[in-house]
Amino acid sequence: MNIGQQILGELKSEITEVEYNRYIKHLEYDIKKSSSDMAIFYAPNALVVSWIQKKYKDKLAHLFEIKTGNKVTVKITLKSAQTTKKAKTIKEINKVSSLLNPSYSFDNFMIGGSNQFAYAAIKSVSENPGKVYNPVFIYGGVGLGKTHLMQAAGNVLQNSGKVVIYATVEQFLNDFIRHVKNKTMDRFQEKYRKCDVLLIDDIQFLSNKEGIQEEFFHTFEALKGAGKQIILTADKHPKKIGGLEARLQSRFEWGLVADIQPPELETKIAIIKKKCEINKVKLSNEIINYIATVIESNVREIEGILSKLHAYSQLMHVDIDLEFTKNVLKDQIKENRQNLTMDTITNVVAKDLNIKPSEIRSKGRAKNLVYARRISIYICRELTQSTMPQLAQYFGMKDHTAISHTIKKINDLIEKDEDFKVKIDELTNKLSSSS
Ligand code: ADP
Ligand code: MG
Repeated sequence: MNIGQQILGELKSEITEVEYNRYIKHLEYDIKKSSSDMAIFYAPNALVVSWIQKKYKDKLAHLFEIKTGNKVTVKITLKSAQTTKKAKTIKEINKVSSLLNPSYSFDNFMIGGSNQFAYAAIKSVSENPGKVYNPVFIYGGVGLGKTHLMQAAGNVLQNSGKVVIYATVEQFLNDFIRHVKNKTMDRFQEKYRKCDVLLIDDIQFLSNKEGIQEEFFHTFEALKGAGKQIILTADKHPKKIGGLEARLQSRFEWGLVADIQPPELETKIAIIKKKCEINKVKLSNEIINYIATVIESNVREIEGILSKLHAYSQLMHVDIDLEFTKNVLKDQIKENRQNLTMDTITNVVAKDLNIKPSEIRSKGRAKNLVYARRISIYICRELTQSTMPQLAQYFGMKDHTAISHTIKKINDLIEKDEDFKVKIDELTNKLSSSS
């Protein structure tokens, strides 16, 4: 193993597997051109070059210095056609230049009620491109796995030899503008209309951009006509995306439209476990459950928290326990709490317990209503600045003594009734992370 490879190996142990696979893995050390004070690495594309320069160059230089005792300048260059040993086939070039992230796989995607339909749709076109549903249109909120799923299909299809293009609307648009400027539209059309699989991410950004809608329409027609698979994602249903030509909108619904909903608790837990495994973070079940209840829906936010926990624990040389986790998440939670109103709390409790908010605020004495009311009052007391008289008024009680009596009762219950306490914790966490 040469020195360059050794250094990359050391870097590997310090970063996450995802980062390693995405960027560092593709680096090649040039043993011939490098010297004792200059280390030269080649990267396959401009994206990797710029990312490594920004994030890892100093780190690499530092590792070289520790290992060799010399001050070493690290150079990251694009692997040009001349340095490649043999001419690459179009498929290989496509493989290098396509922006698919290899860590977005079906194996790494956790399935639950919230995403199983989208998953099944994408999985089936990855096995049978251009045949079953075309296009597949996946929509849903931010950070719910749309890009992940789409790229998982892209990876499978690319590995089976298909020419796959992945682009966000922005990239598609920039490419278009560049080719118009260079008067090379024929090459643009060759690229997008002759591929086997076209993945366009965040299609809602086509909205109100007539020129590119026109171009995309013709791309769509050419691919669809040739039986090539198209996969699209957006933040909303095609019908709800404004500023779209009618002919595009209707085509988006030709194949299969599937939504992704925020993950339910079990799916969230499964996702956290998977991410811990991938990123080599060890967390107890207690902590995993805590994070899953605190973070409402956005999976990207969960990932941010895991890396924050990991980084803090390494910096401060402490194990990640529940106390530590709560501390790290405190700011995030506090921020979310500030906007909480009694209405929000009552609505969330009502929804969770399957009753109407108005019933919580009524004088009804049915057992489930009393239960819901107690929980709401307790959480309002904990999470808002409301005074006793305000609480009394809001929950239709006589005066503040009635409220203070109720709160005493609730405190007793929390001591004695484990289920009640768990419910309060769960809803408190949920509310702390929403809004
Ligand atoms: P979107 O495109 O919907 O905004 P992404 O696909 O970028 O969301 O997902 C955000 C992050 O969350 C990604 O790192 C992705 O791997 C992860 N993620 C989302 N859903 C899941 C899931 N069901 N299983 C595993 N990881 C997921
Ligand atoms: Mg996305």
